[in-house]
Amino acid sequence: MSDPKPPEATKASLCVLCRRGPATPAFHPFCSRRCADLDLARWLGDGYRIPGRADDPDEDAEYAASGERTG
Ligand SMILES: [Zn+2]
Repeated sequence: MSDPKPPEATKASLCVLCRRGPATPAFHPFCSRRCADLDLARWLGDGYRIPGRADDPDEDAEYAASGERTG
């Protein structure tokens, strides 16, 4: 009657990032190196760029200006 331990605590801890797989000792508390890296990237913030994000307004502005000039 004095065991406020949640039932989930008995299970293996899940990856703190994706929570889809159990955390591995090698990358604890993450499930894989991928999750560990992603978490690190989030901490670093500006120092890391995620590939696949081609949304640079500067490029568009430059292109528009260039077209106007030539026109
Ligand atoms: Zn994970």
